[in-house]
Amino acid sequence: MSRPANDATSLHIDTSKPHPARMYDWFLGGKDNYPVDEAMGRQMLALEPGIPVMAKVNRAFMHRATRWLSSQGIRQFLDIGTGIPTEPNLHQVAQQSAPATRVVYCDNDPIVLAHAEALLNGSPEGAIDYVQADARDVDAILEHAGKTLDFSEPVALSMIALLHFVSDEDGAYELMSRLTGVLAPGSHVVISHLTADFHPEKAQKVDEMYKANTLTLAPRNRAQFSAFFDGLEIVEPGIVAAEAWHPELGEPVPGQEDIISAGYVAVGRKP
Ligand code: SAH
Repeated sequence: MSRPANDATSLHIDTSKPHPARMYDWFLGGKDNYPVDEAMGRQMLALEPGIPVMAKVNRAFMHRATRWLSSQGIRQFLDIGTGIPTEPNLHQVAQQSAPATRVVYCDNDPIVLAHAEALLNGSPEGAIDYVQADARDVDAILEHAGKTLDFSEPVALSMIALLHFVSDEDGAYELMSRLTGVLAPGSHVVISHLTADFHPEKAQKVDEMYKANTLTLAPRNRAQFSAFFDGLEIVEPGIVAAEAWHPELGEPVPGQEDIISAGYVAVGRKP
């Protein structure tokens, strides 16, 4: 296990505008958020009261996908857009099945770095590291992750509720193809992603709220979502709403039957 090799200057937390990691923490009932995050969170709740349940449904998908990958023999994970630690974190789920699992976490928000200690606390048999980097900085991520992960062996690349924060112009597809390009055969890619397909009017209002706060939000339709899996084989049950992906691998989230689906999830395997 190692500590993040980042200096204190990267710990500057901007509390003047809302940040996605902190809003998401607020929706999950966490304490690592500021009044600006709560204010925008409340505006979003007024539009869609189901968001806190949706956030839990998204987390529960991550838990089930991680369990499934462990059952397939995957022992290495690269998780980009990790978020503020929320138990159980990915390494806790994976190391419960296989204690020797190695995990590298990555996020670009300094508040996640500030809480990275909670992520670095894994089983003695495994290894965990954290890299503060932008998802688009693929070289820096791979260089750092390569100290803990062996890219000549299968790796699960997990991007849970991340890619809708990266627009096409900002290189969402380029970063995906570069990352999947270095993965060994038998590696997997796990993505959950917001879509406007099910509720275009609500999505439009959320988009306006994000723009008003100078934040990027790029919900994608089914075809745009599936393009992230170019060159990969999407495993069963295919591209579905988060709650419909292998529900037998976990418990349902209380209230999930009452909410609308806001995103697509899928897992792809590199042949
Ligand atoms: N994966 C977690 C958190 C999702 S919230 C979960 O599903 O529970 C999205 C996370 O992506 C936030 O922590 C945010 O800081 C991070 N993020 C957004 N844009 C990013 C980028 N360009 N590079 C790296 N991380 C990013």
